[in-house]
Amino acid sequence: MNIAFWQVLEKYKPSQQLSKKEIVLLLNANVGSESQALFALADQVRQQYHGPAVHLRGIIEFSNYCKNDCCYCGLRCSNQNIERYRLLASEVVAAAHQVIMMGFNTIVLQSGEDPWYDAATICEILLQIKRDSNVAITLSIGERTKEEYRLMYQAGADRFLLKHETADQQLFNKLRPGTSFEKRLICLQSLRAVGFQVGSGNMVGLPGQTVATLAADILLLKQLDVEMAGIGPFIPHPQTPLAQVPPGDLQLTLKTLAVARLALPLAHLPATTAAATLHPQGRQMALACGANVIMPNVTPLKFRKLYQIYPGKAGSTENPLESLNKTRDLIRVTGREIATGRGDSLKKYFR
Ligand code: SF4
Repeated sequence: MNIAFWQVLEKYKPSQQLSKKEIVLLLNANVGSESQALFALADQVRQQYHGPAVHLRGIIEFSNYCKNDCCYCGLRCSNQNIERYRLLASEVVAAAHQVIMMGFNTIVLQSGEDPWYDAATICEILLQIKRDSNVAITLSIGERTKEEYRLMYQAGADRFLLKHETADQQLFNKLRPGTSFEKRLICLQSLRAVGFQVGSGNMVGLPGQTVATLAADILLLKQLDVEMAGIGPFIPHPQTPLAQVPPGDLQLTLKTLAVARLALPLAHLPATTAAATLHPQGRQMALACGANVIMPNVTPLKFRKLYQIYPGKAGSTENPLESLNKTRDLIRVTGREIATGRGDSLKKYFR
């Protein structure tokens, strides 16, 4: 019996920060009773702070162009084998209006890092969506200047998702040539400074990553005091340099998610599409160990197959309504409920 593991679980308090050593101990939980106890505690903390509600965030992937060449991503600019698409600003607004009509309280506008959409275009999209709706808008469009982030925030974007991907600086710089970990952190600080609710997150299963790296990921998320953390398994794409690397381990992904829930009780944690891609019950499993968000893909059907960060993405053959209905059914089956509010930061209620 791993006494140290059980001691960390027993003395856990949401208000006290876990040390790196404690996080590593928890991440090393065995597949039996230790993992079960970890998941149960994470589920309890989720219930305490977030209740049974699951927030739905509808993702519109509006461009698969990207100027970057990340080694793990099918959208990398050197991949000549994908058909590229861009929605016009008016098409993004029309898609957003449809998503609002379907009842979503949050829209996530996601794209590769595509400078074709300058700040003025993004702001115009935001202003038009917000003109007659109080829907929360999350942007997930990559690195921009602080001034551009400020303009987007002022135009109505509420949240910004910029994953740090890995807290291992050398690994980050190796896997994301032409970009840097240092700049990533500056962007995350800029987002916070201009007023965004900030989301970040990491992959589990990158080559060269260790359990200590995952502990550093969780501590970085804590240090950034994120409102949202997306933690999902790495899935190899055949047209990338990491094609032969095995996918991330689902069990380790779930443990990382559960420990993130303990470290970040207030954060919104999605049950990721990548987890659902690895395992048909992946989202349900994530909901049972700390997750409180699902992000159904509501990209118009003709485009969603082309947004291939990794292959075989769950839901890539469904239309937006099918994705929503499937998600509703999944939530019902787990005995949870669909949240009715926007799912903003909980910090104001607990701090
Ligand atoms: S991970 Fe993001 S920035 Fe990197 S290539 Fe893919 S879409 Fe572009």
